[in-house]
Amino acid sequence: MRILAVSPHPDDELIGAPATLMALRDAGWGVSNYAVSLGRPDDQTRRRAELEEACRRARFDLILPEESLPISSDDDLRLAEEDLVERLGHYVNSCDIILSPSPHDRHHGHEVVARAVRRAIEEADNAPRWWMWGLWGDLPLPNIICNFSQERLEEINHALAAHQGEVQRNDYRHLVEGRARANAVLGQERVFGFGTKQLRTYEYAEVVCEAVRRNGLWLLGASRGLDIAEPIAAQPTEINMNFWLNSLSLTTQLQLLTKDLLEDLFARDPSLEDS
Ligand SMILES: [Zn+2]
Repeated sequence: MRILAVSPHPDDELIGAPATLMALRDAGWGVSNYAVSLGRPDDQTRRRAELEEACRRARFDLILPEESLPISSDDDLRLAEEDLVERLGHYVNSCDIILSPSPHDRHHGHEVVARAVRRAIEEADNAPRWWMWGLWGDLPLPNIICNFSQERLEEINHALAAHQGEVQRNDYRHLVEGRARANAVLGQERVFGFGTKQLRTYEYAEVVCEAVRRNGLWLLGASRGLDIAEPIAAQPTEINMNFWLNSLSLTTQLQLLTKDLLEDLFARDPSLEDS
């Protein structure tokens, strides 16, 4: 059994849903991390070395495509999306779960990766389950919760610390811990329903949202705790979540709005376009 993490940037493999990946790894699953991009061209040598060390520490297989995909805000993101759908085709057919950001994660680079993952799964012969994490934009409908210990947190942060340049710029280890603390309180109600009785006491927790491809629809996965013995045995609900997965994200809408406004402005005063 294999889970493929599709990570927009080096470090996302240890920020998105690292406890879930490590729990599956410990249960005997293969964990592959597909590194979509290596960041800005000037940083790529450093970030590649950091990523290799991080994956070594985390015991994830690293898949590094020959060329880093350009997914910065000034890159052609439509082209990147097409390119990534094609690049992922081969891998999607050989895994049981794909883990990636959600298409509403606010960051342009994360959202374009999620859109490509969705399309690659839709085109697959045997669609794997899709597990999404939220980082910059929180998940509205998480349905799998993974609780974890202090020891696991330390393991994650040890691997994350290999991304030295990123951790120096902004210490994401505090985020991993803080969010896991918050999800130990909020996560169970978010997954099992508000007002759920007999909540368990968790030290740390992580949530993902599962979507299951069936007969041309995206069905919302069943709410549950991560069962490492049978993580994908649960049948999905009948809730069709195409509307959310396919809807324009806030980020895209804001971009379109800005573009429309600029085009209006240029139409009224073409000299502005040169400035
Ligand atoms: Zn990222």
